[in-house]
Amino acid sequence: MMNAEHIDELFSDSYAQAREKFFAAAHQRGLSIDSYELDLKGARDETLATDVVFDGPRDASKVLIVLSGVHGVEGFPGSAVQTGALQLDPPKPDDTAILYVHAINPHGFSHLRRVTQENVDLNRNFIQFNGSLPQNEGYHEIHEALLPAQWPPEDDQVLQQYRLTHGDKKFQCAISLGQYQYPDGMFFGGQTPTWSNTTFRQILRIYAANAAVIASVDVHTGLGPYGYGEKIFATRDICTLKNARNWWGEITDVHAGSSTSVPMSGPIQVAISQECPLAKHIGICLEFGTYPIEEMIMTLRADHWVFRHGKQNTAQSSEITQQLKDLFYPNHADWKTPVWTQASTVVTQALQGLENW
Ligand SMILES: [Zn+2]
Repeated sequence: MMNAEHIDELFSDSYAQAREKFFAAAHQRGLSIDSYELDLKGARDETLATDVVFDGPRDASKVLIVLSGVHGVEGFPGSAVQTGALQLDPPKPDDTAILYVHAINPHGFSHLRRVTQENVDLNRNFIQFNGSLPQNEGYHEIHEALLPAQWPPEDDQVLQQYRLTHGDKKFQCAISLGQYQYPDGMFFGGQTPTWSNTTFRQILRIYAANAAVIASVDVHTGLGPYGYGEKIFATRDICTLKNARNWWGEITDVHAGSSTSVPMSGPIQVAISQECPLAKHIGICLEFGTYPIEEMIMTLRADHWVFRHGKQNTAQSSEITQQLKDLFYPNHADWKTPVWTQASTVVTQALQGLENW
């Protein structure tokens, strides 16, 4: 058990600090770090990288992947969970390793955006790019209204009308399902694989290609009740849903409509089945709620407005960035303590699940 003070210390104020803490925890355990550097600098001119620690026998047939920072600014709790798990060193069953992938979207983490340096939502980027790209007609209808020339918008009549006509769920889907036609828009899935996409695939090939079973926990924030961790089924193989429920208890499913999240095109977990085709994969997204969704969407719109209209480095943009960070990362003990408690339980449960596999 960790006390509140220790839990607080796992969390950081910036990407650079999160990286330092992750490094320190790995070094303390005598584990080496494999860094995949991005050729861009961070918000404080720091090095940006995805850092990998493999904890366990190199030929382990069971691998638990703990992933942080898919959505950059959401990386703070994921990083804390990784650092805390390295420190605690929970007992691993025989033939089992933990693969920590820290900050798979380091640019978004450092610059406090959800998206990558390419303005891409990484969880919409794992699609086939050699055919025709998915269409999102709903987004097409509301793109201009979401990101108008002036911020804040004078009114949101177009959006309100869309919502009235199509209902709340369709409205949420139009915005966040993913779109591939507007590179300066929201929830843009990209038109090619991003750096983070190819880097994650490379990491999987190096560290997990020979695994027989892979468990994965991908930590996110921003949907659901404050401090509550929703366990969202993250594979499409319905046979493994039963396993997931045996390990972790209640699991929601975006395809069954039981999750606060909508189904998305091209989530990162797709790479696990593609790069490790021999492995059985049992994975969840652990989604920690923060604040009401209307507030989240409004601030994400503001962040994308800054990007779309080139308003970076102004007083207004700094305020929006800070707001986005505060909304996706409540830096308060009454959020951090339950987040750590639930996430560390999820890690322990995954290891127990692998033991009985
Ligand atoms: Zn997320």
